[in-house]
Amino acid sequence: RTVYVNGEYLPETEASVSIFDRGFLFADAVYEVTSVLNGKLIDFEGHAVRLARSLNELGMENPISKEDLLEVHRELVRVNEIDEGLVYLQISRGADSDRDFVFPDPEKVKPTVVLFTQNKPGLAATVKPMKVISIDDIRWGRRDIKTVQLLYPSMGKMMAKAAGADDAWLIEDGFVTEGTSNNVYIVKDGKIITRGLSNDILHGITRAAVLRFAEEAQMEIEERNFTIEEAQNADEAFFTSASAFVMPVVEIDGKALGNGAPGNVALRLREIYLDESLKKAV
Ligand code: PMP
Repeated sequence: RTVYVNGEYLPETEASVSIFDRGFLFADAVYEVTSVLNGKLIDFEGHAVRLARSLNELGMENPISKEDLLEVHRELVRVNEIDEGLVYLQISRGADSDRDFVFPDPEKVKPTVVLFTQNKPGLAATVKPMKVISIDDIRWGRRDIKTVQLLYPSMGKMMAKAAGADDAWLIEDGFVTEGTSNNVYIVKDGKIITRGLSNDILHGITRAAVLRFAEEAQMEIEERNFTIEEAQNADEAFFTSASAFVMPVVEIDGKALGNGAPGNVALRLREIYLDESLKKAV
């Protein structure tokens, strides 16, 4: 696999980053994951805009223009012959000369930019009815910034696995915030219910697109908090992310939803999302 590090395309075995890189030592880095279908990038614009926002919120300079970023994405997809898969992008505050909590002088230390592809044949065709458990949301208060602090989400997925489930939904002050790596929804009497945007959740690029398509399809949407009990009593549930698109959830904390099969709203939204996003893919 060919990867990209700070302006260079290299075989993955020759690519390296300093042990003093702040992404490695402090999780002082942001990331994006963009899906690839038919060799094209889904919602690249949305990911580029959110990346710029994440960097800005952390006072990091944006080291790469949107045009150059698109070019690097496309080149990696091309040389690695990705038909279906993902492009992972990470920008850290850079490699200081030592370990120091204080941010380095941005004139002296430049951000580290790393991109690589992941080949995932069958990504669009794979619909897995998901079982989820609920766990406490003990993450920090700026989940709207897409940082690489992913230890707790990793632990959440391990807790889910240990419980015989596929993923975990996070609960704060009695309400569901989001999934470990996705935005979550329930459907009741045809109405789509999902938490509103705030610093408590990541502003999903897929969420924005799916809600827009749902609105265009005259579906009813309510942005508000909901509890895990309300979710367990919903007709259906699903989650969205750039790598899973729209994925049906069929069981929450051991309770099957509806008839236990993927819901119609989730399946319809998945189809619309894939169709519409592919039309605009770049
Ligand atoms: N919430 C969290 C915590 C996530 O990690 C992700 C995906 N990285 C999402 C939501 C979904 O965001 P997107 O649709 O932009 O992939």
